[in-house]
Amino acid sequence: MTQHTDPPPWVADGSWRARATEALTSISEAVCFLDAEYRYTWVNRAAERLLERPAAELVGQELWSEFPDRPGAPWQESVRRARSTRVSQHLEFFYEPLDRWFEVRAYPVLDDLVLFFRDVHERRRLDEERAAESSLIRAVLNALPARTAILGGDGTILTINTAWAQGATTAGRPAASRPGDDYLAACRALAATGVPEAQRAVEGLEAVLERRAPSFSLDYSPAPGAGTGTADTWWHLQAFPVDGGPGVVVTHTDITDRVRAEQRAAWQARHDHLTELPNRAALHETITGALAEDGGPVTVLYLDVDGFKQVNDSLGHSAGDLLLQELAVRLSQRTRTTDVVGRLGGDEFVVVARDCDAPAGELLAQRFRAVFDEPFELAGTRLSLTASIGTATSDPAHTGPEDLLRDADAAMYAAKSDGRDQHLHFTPTLRTALEGRRQVVTHLRDAAALDQLTVRWQPVVHLPSGTVTGCEALVRWDHPHRGRLEPAEFIPVAEETGTIVPITRWLLRTAIAQAEAWQADGHDLAVGVNVSAVHLSSGTLVDDVLGALAARDLAPENLVLELTETALARDPEHAVAQFSELRTHGVRIAIDDFGAGYSSLAAVASLPADVLKVDRALVTGPLPAAATAPEALLGAVAALGTALDMAVLAEGVETAAQVELARRVGCTYAQGHHLSPPVTGDRLGALLAEGRRQTGQQRLP
Ligand code: C2E
Ligand code: CA
Ligand code: CA
Repeated sequence: MTQHTDPPPWVADGSWRARATEALTSISEAVCFLDAEYRYTWVNRAAERLLERPAAELVGQELWSEFPDRPGAPWQESVRRARSTRVSQHLEFFYEPLDRWFEVRAYPVLDDLVLFFRDVHERRRLDEERAAESSLIRAVLNALPARTAILGGDGTILTINTAWAQGATTAGRPAASRPGDDYLAACRALAATGVPEAQRAVEGLEAVLERRAPSFSLDYSPAPGAGTGTADTWWHLQAFPVDGGPGVVVTHTDITDRVRAEQRAAWQARHDHLTELPNRAALHETITGALAEDGGPVTVLYLDVDGFKQVNDSLGHSAGDLLLQELAVRLSQRTRTTDVVGRLGGDEFVVVARDCDAPAGELLAQRFRAVFDEPFELAGTRLSLTASIGTATSDPAHTGPEDLLRDADAAMYAAKSDGRDQHLHFTPTLRTALEGRRQVVTHLRDAAALDQLTVRWQPVVHLPSGTVTGCEALVRWDHPHRGRLEPAEFIPVAEETGTIVPITRWLLRTAIAQAEAWQADGHDLAVGVNVSAVHLSSGTLVDDVLGALAARDLAPENLVLELTETALARDPEHAVAQFSELRTHGVRIAIDDFGAGYSSLAAVASLPADVLKVDRALVTGPLPAAATAPEALLGAVAALGTALDMAVLAEGVETAAQVELARRVGCTYAQGHHLSPPVTGDRLGALLAEGRRQTGQQRLP
């Protein structure tokens, strides 16, 4: 076995001198032999080309004379040093006359000096370019805010940026952190401790390193105690291959702020901001989920605070908000682990109870009604409140959360309409009633226009004379599907929906026209028209009444507007102003259903009215056992009316005795079935004609 220190075999045969000379002559480096005085003794062909002179001219010349750059240039020093120190020298230098980089090597050989020159310009340029490029890459890497490392093909860290180095001890990535550390191995170690994200990172990284995947990314939150940080930070890991090499760029970006914002937004989308309870969307999901479980029926409880609007109006919205927050706390305290309480909006709360049938729903409702036992402290005021509660229990007819919520809402609505402060459970009957109501609402608006409304007229008898001096217009509705409807079945709906105003306009016109028609037949009657409180607050009552009168020839004194005492009590000032104005035009005013409500005497006394219509309840007597009660009560009211300068009318007289009683205690008028039920206009005209034929007066026969 030959070693490179052994002389080549041709040294032994003596041909080495010729071979060495041949080799030196033809190599691409310039070779010069110099004597002790730095004079050329031998040059090769490359040296001839470099110095642009043939060897014959160069030999004997001093080295320096062939190089036109300044004496003492570094390469020259290097050559001199080789001679003086007898240690070979090596230097790369920039040769200005040629504007290129060269390399010089000077070897002292006995008394001679051998110089090798080589043009290294291209190599230098490439080196410099590469250096510039890599410092650019480094600058870019360091400018990246994300913790960035470049891994070699085996997963060890080749280089890291400043952000990575600075974050070395904090959360966000595995323990391997310095160049030379094995990042992939660190990920594997973490995965072995049972961190699922680490396992996914290992698989993703391997796929990118083996070029099975174009890239890999993963959002993760380092597990506390895993040595990598705290659970409330979030990181985005990304790995993508280095172009044209085996490596992979790995970045760890802190996305905690973004994740927190997303989590906050997701939470807000499912919760009510005021009470922090689940909102409508979340409740829908809860009900859907509960219905899907097979754990018995689901009951939905719908709760609405009675008179919440008044709290808001009188104490202000911030007090209203406080009430809702306090209520949310109380409701939450009453919920069991299987219940979910949420807020739909406004003062409407919903409880979803799993495995809860109708009887259990009753107990549930009781439990939540009890929330109102304690008064609420608001803005320094103690408020005793109540709620209307509806419940609905799932059955096969309920396909989704909408159905259950709708039924519970319907039951709540019925509980509220039926006097508040109570609980109703949804039944199919309730659905039918609501369906009827919906038909009323839908068709009512067109009723007057479509001629579906008719009027029945009930005569009013002047008791001292026994003559008929007037009548009351009582509306009926011939509903296209449901037949004839009594006022109780649609007037409340008309008031709620505002349709009562156009209906009353129609009635005013009809009543005035009818009174004129009777007058033409010789019957002089005052017509009473019932006016709703809604019409008073709408502000158009005066215009509507005067407008209807202006269109015809009826004397305003022949029109009586009837308004119940409860309606008057709601907004007395407004009522007084409008009634006063109407009275200055001659229209008369009656207080209806007096004694049926709870308005104060003072309120009634301050109203500018002409007639006090005493409610039927007072005429027949509220206490049947006390035989004297009707007389005493009716007498007191009659005296009151007289004192206030109002004519008193006894309503709903059903017997001769009641008519007699009314007359005895001093009522001026009476109205009731004993005298006549409400009849058609033609019928009333005919009755009066018959009465006149019999008695010569405007009387009933
Ligand atoms: P109201 O103004 O107190 O009308 C008297 C009601 O008592 C009428 O019922 C009438 O038929 C009934 N009535 C009359 N005499 C007797 C009697 O001897 N015994 C009994 N038990 N009842 C008697 P109706 O027509 O069902 O009207 C009910 C209520 O509907 C009216 O009470 C009134 O508040 C309202 N209403 C009727 N028509 C109108 C209208 O055009 N506009 C408005 N806003 N309300 C109306
Ligand atoms: Ca009336
Ligand atoms: Ca009445």
